[in-house]
Amino acid sequence: MYDVIVIGRGPAGVSSAIYAVRAGKKTLLIGKGVSAAESAKEVGNFYGTGGTVSGAELHSRAIAQAASLGVEFKDEEVNSVEMTGSFTVDTDSGSYDCKAVVLAVGRRRASSGVKNTDTFEGRGVSRCAVCDGFFFKNKTLGVLGAGSYAAHEAKQLMSITDKITIFTNGMEFTGGAPPCGINKQKVKSVFGEAKLGGVELENGEKILLDGLFIAVGTADALDLAKKLGLATDGGYLTVDKNGMTSCPGVFAAGDCVGGLNQISTAVGDGALAGQRAAEYISKTAE
Ligand SMILES: Cc1cc2nc3c(=O)[nH]c(=O)nc-3n(C[C@H](O)[C@H](O)[C@H](O)COP(=O)(O)OP(=O)(O)OC[C@H]3O[C@@H](n4cnc5c(N)ncnc54)[C@H](O)[C@@H]3O)c2cc1C
Repeated sequence: MYDVIVIGRGPAGVSSAIYAVRAGKKTLLIGKGVSAAESAKEVGNFYGTGGTVSGAELHSRAIAQAASLGVEFKDEEVNSVEMTGSFTVDTDSGSYDCKAVVLAVGRRRASSGVKNTDTFEGRGVSRCAVCDGFFFKNKTLGVLGAGSYAAHEAKQLMSITDKITIFTNGMEFTGGAPPCGINKQKVKSVFGEAKLGGVELENGEKILLDGLFIAVGTADALDLAKKLGLATDGGYLTVDKNGMTSCPGVFAAGDCVGGLNQISTAVGDGALAGQRAAEYISKTAE
């Protein structure tokens, strides 16, 4: 059992992990993919650099600093976080328990890449299997996505129906052993009237579906928020003055909470969230 698990290894996540570990907490930092900061060629506005520095250089120094302080790392993709008395973080390769979580996953929201999915959201289209799967018992379902997150959502739905197809929308499936049938055709649009009717492929074929779960790319801040029932506002996670979300023990920092969306604010938010997460654990243990 970890004390704190930080999800996302951009400036907000690394800063959170540094504060949590320095507060004496056993800290795991899970992240996959390049952070926005890492992709910045020249950063000229960050405190103390003496001029410009590349985002990649800043990132590698920060990771080395966190490692030297005792932060543990996993290069894995997080698919969900669940409340299990404590918290359980599920990744593409494992499952980890902790007492407090910091969400620092930045703000990238993968587009579904398919016409009309937004129109039918809440009317057959969903972005959360654990939240909405219940409404589709024994129904015919699709999952749109081609990676580990799509596989995770399909597996979650298998407890309520065995009629599931993953639509990869022309991509190769990279989510490991497929948990159900796969359709690799390009998807043109979703169709329906009051409710979702199904998906139309680019070759004109129409496939009837009762529900379609969007799981394109990696689970983002809003996907994880939905699974935990967190309050959001205008696409951002809502946090209080301690960086805590509407769920006690779940903190958030960086671009996923909005604000200036800069490295300095991500580092500041991260420091607050990491420190307060450590204090939260100490208080709840009293
Ligand atoms: C090209 C570019 C140039 C920029 N230049 C500047 C600049 O000069 N100065 C400045 O102050 N700011 C700059 N910014 C903005 C700055 O980079 C961001 O505000 C900052 O990186 C936000 O930090 P973050 O930690 O919140 O998110 P990010 O840096 O986006 O990090 C989030 C991390 O979480 C990971 N992640 C997401 N979902 C998951 C998941 N499900 N499982 C595992 N890992 C996940 C991502 O892969 C990523 O590594 C720039 C941004 C870009 C894109």
